[in-house]
Amino acid sequence: MFVYADNAATTRIDPDVLQAMMPALQDLYGNPSTIYSKGREAHEALDRAREQVAKAINCRPNEVYFTSCGTESDNWAIRGIARHYASKKGKHIITTNIEHHAVLETLKAMEKEGYEVTFLPVNEEGFVTAEQVEQAIRPDTVLITVMTANNEIGSIQPIEEIVKVAKAHNVFVHTDAVQAVGHIPVDVQASGVDLLSLSGHKFHAPKGVGALYVRRGVIPDNLMNGGGQERNRRPGTENLAGILGLGAAIEKATANLERDMNYVSSLRDKLIEGIVKEIPCCKINTPSHDRLPGTVNVSIKYIEGESMLLMLDMNGICATSGSACASGDLDPSHVLLAIGLPHEVAHGSVRFSLCTKNTEEEVDYILSVLPKIAQRLRDMSPLWEEAKKNETF
Ligand code: PLP
Repeated sequence: MFVYADNAATTRIDPDVLQAMMPALQDLYGNPSTIYSKGREAHEALDRAREQVAKAINCRPNEVYFTSCGTESDNWAIRGIARHYASKKGKHIITTNIEHHAVLETLKAMEKEGYEVTFLPVNEEGFVTAEQVEQAIRPDTVLITVMTANNEIGSIQPIEEIVKVAKAHNVFVHTDAVQAVGHIPVDVQASGVDLLSLSGHKFHAPKGVGALYVRRGVIPDNLMNGGGQERNRRPGTENLAGILGLGAAIEKATANLERDMNYVSSLRDKLIEGIVKEIPCCKINTPSHDRLPGTVNVSIKYIEGESMLLMLDMNGICATSGSACASGDLDPSHVLLAIGLPHEVAHGSVRFSLCTKNTEEEVDYILSVLPKIAQRLRDMSPLWEEAKKNETF
């Protein structure tokens, strides 16, 4: 059996999404910036995709800017706001220490350029509070950037409350909603955020297309210089096929969101219950509340996550031991360390991320394979021999 359980890393393209993209790869090849009918046709398709995104996150179409990925959207939001407003407001930015590298590395680079960044700690379930954010706000704070949902453990942050305290102090809020859009309700009017990043390949659109929501009246400086595309804010001839895919995918992912969330959550719960029942000495790192429907992160003590992944792969199961972008890196995940796991426990972690395409049979299959793998690896581990004497099961 083959089970793809790494949907937080990326997802497969939905067949309906592929259909929606095909015109742009065939007849709809006009440049949307040209004025003849072939170009206008492409422009109209672009506008329809923009409307689909706007409807899904509840904003105006002209508040949506297409980008090349979530990473670009994050960089643009953070650097753009800082550059435009720092001279008036100041050079202090607030974030959390469990953000994706697209945010963390941007901010670390900006520290070298003279910005000051407060990296807020999270609690053992991976949450930051609005009170923590409020206490960190200074007169020179220009931006707060807090992710909506974490890619490794699935914790969902209290963005609405954070926005309330930010507004009281007149500070902009950006949220990296790359793991949230298409999986949980995301409504920029309800949350009040100023900027929001999303990425198509996390909800069955192709890779290489994303978007940034920018509230009307908010002006991030451009990241790149060039032509007048995206209302003079994001130059470069549009990736029309990708954008049409993103539009179709966001529409499909949000059409029956509650039903889909219930379905995926039931798979997640079954997987967590099975793991806890079958594997002694493991710790579920996904929080018990305010979490994504599909994320299951577990530390299986006394074994190496990497060996577990290889054996899962030999059994046809794709999962990951941290964020995909960081694998190949021997340091344990910064998120797992931030929630207080010791290095050796963090090293023994694996993340399964499920979506609507997964089935109960697949979860049963994971549960039939994982405990055996854990046992085999533990049988080879001197640490396990020692631990059996001390652990209470
Ligand atoms: N932010 C989060 C939370 C992510 O999970 C990812 C991708 O894993 C990104 C940003 C980067 O998105 P992209 O791969 O589209 O650059």
